Amino acid sequence: MIDFSHLSNSHRRAMELVREAAREKNCRPYLVGGPVRDLLLERAVVDIDIAVEEDSSALARALAKLMSGRVKSFPQFLTYKVTADQMPEIDIATARKERYRSPGALPSVTPGHLRDDLLRRDFSINAMAVDVVEGALHDPTGGEADLRARLVRVLHDQSFIDDPTRIYRAIRLASRLGFSIEPHTGELMRNAITSGALITISKERIWRELFLAMDEGGAPAILTAFLTQGALDVLFGKRTADPARLESAREQIERNPELDRHVLYTATLLRGDASPVDLEGSGFSQKRARNIVQIANELGRFADALLEAKTERQRLRVLKHASPEMLGVLAATQPAESRHVERFHEYQNFKLPLRGNDLEMPGGPHVSRALERTREAVFTGEIPAEHAREFARETALRYLKREEAKS
Ligand code: ATP
Repeated sequence: MIDFSHLSNSHRRAMELVREAAREKNCRPYLVGGPVRDLLLERAVVDIDIAVEEDSSALARALAKLMSGRVKSFPQFLTYKVTADQMPEIDIATARKERYRSPGALPSVTPGHLRDDLLRRDFSINAMAVDVVEGALHDPTGGEADLRARLVRVLHDQSFIDDPTRIYRAIRLASRLGFSIEPHTGELMRNAITSGALITISKERIWRELFLAMDEGGAPAILTAFLTQGALDVLFGKRTADPARLESAREQIERNPELDRHVLYTATLLRGDASPVDLEGSGFSQKRARNIVQIANELGRFADALLEAKTERQRLRVLKHASPEMLGVLAATQPAESRHVERFHEYQNFKLPLRGNDLEMPGGPHVSRALERTREAVFTGEIPAEHAREFARETALRYLKREEAKS
């Protein structure tokens, strides 16, 4: 009997309602995959995955009614998603059998028994189910023993060839749980990589895995393992990992969660030599791609320009051209510059109590440029704050004259 008492209140409530819906529809739901693994490890369960051998749509609708929630259906996956306020997301799927016709291709799916559904899965620790009504554990592949031994193990020797995305999943899961990859599984993984299995899947699918890795708290270790195993050669060619730089990217992200983590990690992976070709299949917008290439390729040039800057004004002008992510990398990788980056952040937040109207002259771009120049002059100590208005007026007049001379 599996103990559900470690679940949060909302998850326990959700399981009770699944049980009630099952009684109503006379079917037998199973909790499957990730949540069973996490329940047995006493880790927090996020989403609830349910499999049934019977009609999953009837169960999904009955459950949504009990929860006063909504059902979304994904017919191609024989899956329903039930959502309701204050409740975890519940996926309800018809148990299925999968067959891989060719390596790397998506499998053909037919309804099957619970056992088929467990045997099609990636690793033994993800291939367990708990009978929601009776609490009995179904563990046809020795997942519980592997949990105890802290191992990630595939279910058969063809697994990584059938679906090479499992290579990334194995590394990510092992790192998240602090598990090892079981030795034979490790050997199969290395063989799959060297025999070119990753060429059989699209770059889009690889990027999806890469982004999932970047979303993990332990991203630096996972990305390092991807690189050292050669699992990213298909995207970027051969590259060496730099765990310390990945770690400092992680620290930056932790300190400033607004930073674009996918941009920052990708730029760190591509450091020194990035081109838009490396980003094929990533779906990055042009702006984010430009940011990545800038950070990866121009970090050194930026750092040199900062070193060469003699005055604070010159430094601010260099930093103005850096994206927030570039500033993050600069601060993290060039400790000598972190003080300047901090000053630049202060400058960004620095305000003058002076507006265009205060200058008493016709408005236009010369006024906003002059106000910006004055803000810089006061911030850097070039002029005292009490001279700001006068300085701004003179500057604006000078800009105006220059504009008139040009036209
Ligand atoms: P988490 O969501 O916490 O990352 P999870 O194990 O729930 O972990 P999902 O990606 O949501 O991961 O997948 C749900 C389940 O589907 C997994 O537990 C696994 O059993 C199965 N699964 C997912 N991807 C594959 C795959 N490529 N091959 C075989 N089974 C898979």
